[in-house]
This record gives sequence, structure tokens and C-alpha cells, in this order.
Amino acid sequence: MRFVLSVFVLASWLASAAAAGAEDDLTKLADGVYVRIVEPDSNAVGNSGVLVLEHGVLVFDTHFTPEAGQQLRKAIESVTMKPVLYLVNSHFHPDHTHGNQAFQGVPYSICSYNTRRDILQRDLPAFNRTVAVAGAQVEKLQKELLREKDAGRKESIRTQIAARQQLLARATRLKIFAPYITFDETMSIMDGGREVPLRWIGSGHTDGDIVLLLPGDKIVFAGDLFFNRALPNSQDASLLEWIKTLEHLLKVDADRFVPGHGPVGTRRDVEDFLGYLRELRGMVEPAVTRGDALEQVLAEVTLPGRYSGYRFQEFFPANVQRMYAELKSLKLAEAAAEKPADQKKAKP
Ligand SMILES: [Zn+2]
Repeated sequence: MRFVLSVFVLASWLASAAAAGAEDDLTKLADGVYVRIVEPDSNAVGNSGVLVLEHGVLVFDTHFTPEAGQQLRKAIESVTMKPVLYLVNSHFHPDHTHGNQAFQGVPYSICSYNTRRDILQRDLPAFNRTVAVAGAQVEKLQKELLREKDAGRKESIRTQIAARQQLLARATRLKIFAPYITFDETMSIMDGGREVPLRWIGSGHTDGDIVLLLPGDKIVFAGDLFFNRALPNSQDASLLEWIKTLEHLLKVDADRFVPGHGPVGTRRDVEDFLGYLRELRGMVEPAVTRGDALEQVLAEVTLPGRYSGYRFQEFFPANVQRMYAELKSLKLAEAAAEKPADQKKAKP
């Protein structure tokens, strides 16, 4: 499963890299606070944040490709001459970390302990496997090409080889780089007169997502804990935990929330996203209680019309499947927890 996903990620990376993004500009949210909101089908995929502090610049997430990371670096240079001192990754997903190499050598690179673990133990091996498989496929296709007599088939094989070679050429330029300063729940960067708090407020999109708070400006960089007007990628998620974590997020005194994907949002937008996850639970839970099979649930549960304008509609079946699995385990755990008490009662 992991392998299939990584192939998908790399393939989409290749496709998106071809359609290089043109959004070089940073949008200013407050003094020294910028965001680079990108289109998901650009080479950047995920949003990045930039803080210009007294001694240097902090970068929050680095987009999806080394090229997009470089574009981010150029965009930073268009607003300040200060050096980049701090690199922060919100979580381990490639669309937030594969631009890191454009910032390699920054004095302080920071993420949660779990994010560093996942970059090194999941993303890096998955990427290496994908590259190895693409290399093996090129060899196999080259042998097929030698045996093939039909001109049309030969051309098709050549196209497949070229696509994989292009992918391999790009892959060899990518150096996956994990931040080396980690924390579990709370950390603050004190730079000049400014304190920049970083917080792990709970699992959700992954178990390592952190948020960056700017209390004075009432701004939160929420990473992928917040998808604005988009269905979430739930492949590494705990959706039930995510609901609780968003409830915590909404306790933060802020009025602008920068998502990992989509435009800068308001408190209302975060509430809407939380509403989607709660509604998803509400739609799936009765079926789990009845003991319906997953296939039946996938066939019967449909996305309510009010989310029809959301991006990433293709994530809906995976969202349903993840919610189904979590609710099923929850019910099994609850049933198991009830048992010892019953047995106790039965004892004389
Ligand atoms: Zn993500």
C-alpha cells in the first residue's frame, strides 16, 4: 500500500513538476508575516509561510520539489536581504518537505520528533523503493523493446521508457533532508523581541503535525491540520483524533488560519472543515453500528452537496474508508473494555 502510494506521489510529482507554478509572490499578512499560497497542481502543491524576524527569516514548509523550494527562496529574497535562519516542517509529507534542500545548511531546522521519524523511516525508504522500481522497469522495458517487432508497440515502449527516465533524472536531483532539532509538544523560538511558539496540539492529519502561532497578529500557520475548502488527505490520519485536535485549534485566539492547502481561512472556515469531519463520522457511524460491510458503506455514503465546491473530491472514498476503520476499532475496543467489568460482576 505504502509503495503504491509512493509511486502515485512520485508520478504526480513528475506531472506537477512539468507544469511549473508561476506563483512567485508572497502575500503579506502582517508586518514580517508572509504566505505563499500555491495551486495544488503546480510544482509546489502545499502552501508555505515566511516570517521575517529580527535576526533572520523563518520558513514554515518548503513545497513539493527542490525547484519549488528554490522559487520560495527567491520569493523570500524579493522581500528581505536577511538570511534564512530557521526551517520548520509542519509534518513529514513530501509536499511540505521536498523543497527542504533549497534551505539545506540553515542553522536551525525544526520539526516534531514524530515528523523527523517519519521523514527518515517512511518517506525516505518509500522514495528509494520508488526510484529502484522505476529503474528496474526501465531495464525491463529496454529488453522488451529489443524483442518487439511491431512499430506501434515499439513507439509505446519508448514513450514509457522516456517517462521513467525523466522521473529518475528528477529523482536523482532530490535530496530528502530531515530537520534535526525536534520537540514533543512545545517549543518557542525567541528572535529579537519576538517569540514564535510552535505547538503539537494533537494527532490528526498525521501524528506529528505542529502549528505555528503568532498571538500578536492573531495568525496561525496550521499546516495540513487545516484543509481550507478541500477534502483532506487521510492516508496517514486519525480522523477521530483530528476532530479533537481541531477543537483545540479553535481555542487559539486567532482570526486568520493559514492552511496547508487552499486560501488563508477564517475561524469560520476552520469550523466548516471540522464540520465536515464530524459529518463524516455522523454518516459512517450508524453503518458501523449495524455491522454493514465496508463495500456497502462506500456504495451508500455520498458526499453532501454543500461540499461539492471543495477541492480534492477524489479523497472522499478514502475518507469514508478511514472513518469506517477507526469507528470499527473504537467499537471493538469499547466492547473489550466492557468485558472485564461483566466478568467481575459474574464472580461470587
Ligand atoms: Zn500532508
